[in-house]
Amino acid sequence: MDPKILVVDDSMVVRTHLKRTLVAAGFEVIEAVDGVQALEKLTEEPNVILVVSDVNMPRMGGLELLERMRQVEALREMPVLMLTTEAQIELVKRAKELGAKGWMIKPLKAELLVATVRKLMAAKAA
Ligand SMILES: [Mg+2]
Repeated sequence: MDPKILVVDDSMVVRTHLKRTLVAAGFEVIEAVDGVQALEKLTEEPNVILVVSDVNMPRMGGLELLERMRQVEALREMPVLMLTTEAQIELVKRAKELGAKGWMIKPLKAELLVATVRKLMAAKAA
């Protein structure tokens, strides 16, 4: 099976946009609506190699998801790209401390997203 990207956002509009962009760039994508579902999908789907996650979501947000992933051996090294609607400096700092590999502000530019995803994947493969 091919490597997949897990897109996590409580907004269906954003998920659809992300999925369409990444699929058009040749990636396989699965979706989750929040951190809780993301952790479930990461357990069910061993082929996920990158997570693109929103910060503000009900039940479990992106920072807690990141924190939980760092506590699981199999998920500890997985690159995570965080998305938010604003450049909240404290959030960015915290995400970096938790090992987020990138940070992007919504609305996302498709080319920039694809370029960043490719870079993270190349870094992981190296
Ligand atoms: Mg949100």
